Amino acid sequence: MSRRTKSPSGVIDAPLDVAAQAKAREEGRPSVRDGRLKTYEPGANVGRFLELLGRRVSRPLAVSLTACVHCGRCAESCHYFLARPDDPTMTPVWKADQIRKIFKRHVDWTGRVAPWWAKAGTPDGDEDLNRLKNVVFGACSACRRCTFNCPMGVDTALLVRFTRGLLTELGIVPEGVFNVSRDQWETGNQMAVTETDFLETIEWMRDDLRAELGPGADIPVDRPDCDILYTINPREIKFDPRSIAHAARIFHAAGASWTLPKWGWDQTNFGLFSGDDALGAYVSRNLYEAAERLRARRIVISECGHGYRSTRWEGYTWSGYDQKLPTESIVAVLRRYLEEGRIVVDPGRNLEPVTFHDSCNIARSGDLVEEPRQVLRRVCADFREMHPNRQENFCCTGGGGLLAMAEYRPLRLEAGKVKAEQLKATEAALVCTMCHNCIDGLGDVIKHYHLPMRVVQVLELVSRALVLPAGS
Ligand code: SF4
Ligand code: SF4
Repeated sequence: MSRRTKSPSGVIDAPLDVAAQAKAREEGRPSVRDGRLKTYEPGANVGRFLELLGRRVSRPLAVSLTACVHCGRCAESCHYFLARPDDPTMTPVWKADQIRKIFKRHVDWTGRVAPWWAKAGTPDGDEDLNRLKNVVFGACSACRRCTFNCPMGVDTALLVRFTRGLLTELGIVPEGVFNVSRDQWETGNQMAVTETDFLETIEWMRDDLRAELGPGADIPVDRPDCDILYTINPREIKFDPRSIAHAARIFHAAGASWTLPKWGWDQTNFGLFSGDDALGAYVSRNLYEAAERLRARRIVISECGHGYRSTRWEGYTWSGYDQKLPTESIVAVLRRYLEEGRIVVDPGRNLEPVTFHDSCNIARSGDLVEEPRQVLRRVCADFREMHPNRQENFCCTGGGGLLAMAEYRPLRLEAGKVKAEQLKATEAALVCTMCHNCIDGLGDVIKHYHLPMRVVQVLELVSRALVLPAGS
């Protein structure tokens, strides 16, 4: 692997930084949760990496590893390459080739028989593994836009997640990935919110709600036998609890029977980003078991892209948990409330022009594209599409867990040029998204490119348009 394309961005050659892992080892907690989260140990990593690679390659991965014909069509799909068209290391195919060449050398027969012909290669040591880390964590937001534009069906984001998982197993990960994974293993949520903080924040929002709507309004916690188990993103507790209040107002107006669980409320899942299926299973199982414990009849996921994909789809596979309950997004519930006349709205309360950003994990990996539009057309006076949209929309820049990886921020913002141009062309004052990651990703783009707009969520716009019956 010593012969490599030089990266003009410098990202690929960023040094191996294992400070957080080393600190954790010094503090006597080299691994948490039954040793699942590994810390970096110098030496012997290449052998372990190759052993894991051989053991974990599945049929869908093998297809994506072998089907590429190097036509280059995926290049124009990637916001990194569009922002850096002179840098071949920003093309999806080059990124995928970094794991593909190792697969060919050690697993596929072509590379074992004729490595020079198959362009096979092998990592020489930890520095090569670190370079691989910088590619799969630092230069790809796992948005899957290239996947949708590959004529051979190659899923580059799948290969990226797979490679991230191998490196996570060795502790060769960005510091932020290590820290967030550790927090989610140790506390059950990725922002390390304590149970006291959780309950106090809910109590505070409940008091505000009752001040507005009267003593009958509630934000229930651990109430059994409800129709809805409502699960949230820790960001809502830590930074923006207004979104919980918006949901509570709407549930109150619709007469919904609902509750938050005291444990198992985090619908986000860093296992999707780190490639750690064991973490993915642990977090999703907490949530599914909470629904069972409280005898809820459905699981509803607040606005979050990767949380929706993890909880609605991947979590059942990672955890081997039989899906017993309908599992859906709050936006699908909002659309149903509007259709059934359970809530009344006035679009005249949202007069500013609004556009909609499709979160990658919801549109491309979740197939939830029309529901948010149907809701926004009901609650906003001026809804306008950005282009391209739906499954062809571009990433907010914050996908793939990149918001937790400060070292890759300059390149991420540079790649946000495409998103900035898309947003600007709408001339909207508000960009609406149904994802907390996208709020921060879009917020960074808006600030960096000096755009005159702000980010809102579907819940906020519906809550603002809500017409409450007199006396409620
Ligand atoms: S479009 Fe598909 S087949 Fe063509 S280079 Fe990209 S990944 Fe390979
Ligand atoms: S998944 Fe997205 S960011 Fe990653 S290579 Fe493909 S288009 Fe680029």
